[in-house]
Amino acid sequence: MKRNSSHYPRDDPKSKFAALLTPYAYQVVRKQMELADKLKVSETDDDTVSMKTAAGMANVTSTSCTCQFTCINQLPCRHIFAFRKMKKMYLFFETGISRRWTLEFYLNMTMSTPSATLGNTTNNNVTLMKGPVVLSQAQKYRVVFREAQKLATLASEGSTQKYKQRLHVLQKLVQLREEDKEAMVYDMVGKITITHSQC
Ligand SMILES: [Zn+2]
Repeated sequence: MKRNSSHYPRDDPKSKFAALLTPYAYQVVRKQMELADKLKVSETDDDTVSMKTAAGMANVTSTSCTCQFTCINQLPCRHIFAFRKMKKMYLFFETGISRRWTLEFYLNMTMSTPSATLGNTTNNNVTLMKGPVVLSQAQKYRVVFREAQKLATLASEGSTQKYKQRLHVLQKLVQLREEDKEAMVYDMVGKITITHSQC
């Protein structure tokens, strides 16, 4: 797995996160670190502070936050980073990070998919054959998993109504796939209005 972290010194908190997390989760966390610079936290000796977020007030400590982002994603948010900066603490920490975002978990899962072993032991002549590249199931799984993680984060951001709509679309897609049916994706832009009576 390639990552562009070589330009960070090894003890840079960014490098530490890059080594711990999947590339996608790392991008999300790095963005939160950058956003933390825009937050102003008044100095205090308290272990918990209250911070204003898009969805109301959140209680923030050096490793936890009650904001929507952290509750749903279980990744460090801008508030925690802002708090740690105010306290002059090292920005890297692992507490509260969901295992599903870690490289270790991701690699274990891709290694243990049923056909991963098959993919590795099939003949070595594959590379000599001309024509389209044949991906093993484990390789396909890896690509799909990465996209699915993005979907999970994107669907969990924003308003509750948006989350419900997005979740509904994902559940419908899963249902169709289970029935081995194909689905089309349309861009819902412009004047189209969707009504969700069940939301
Ligand atoms: Zn937060």
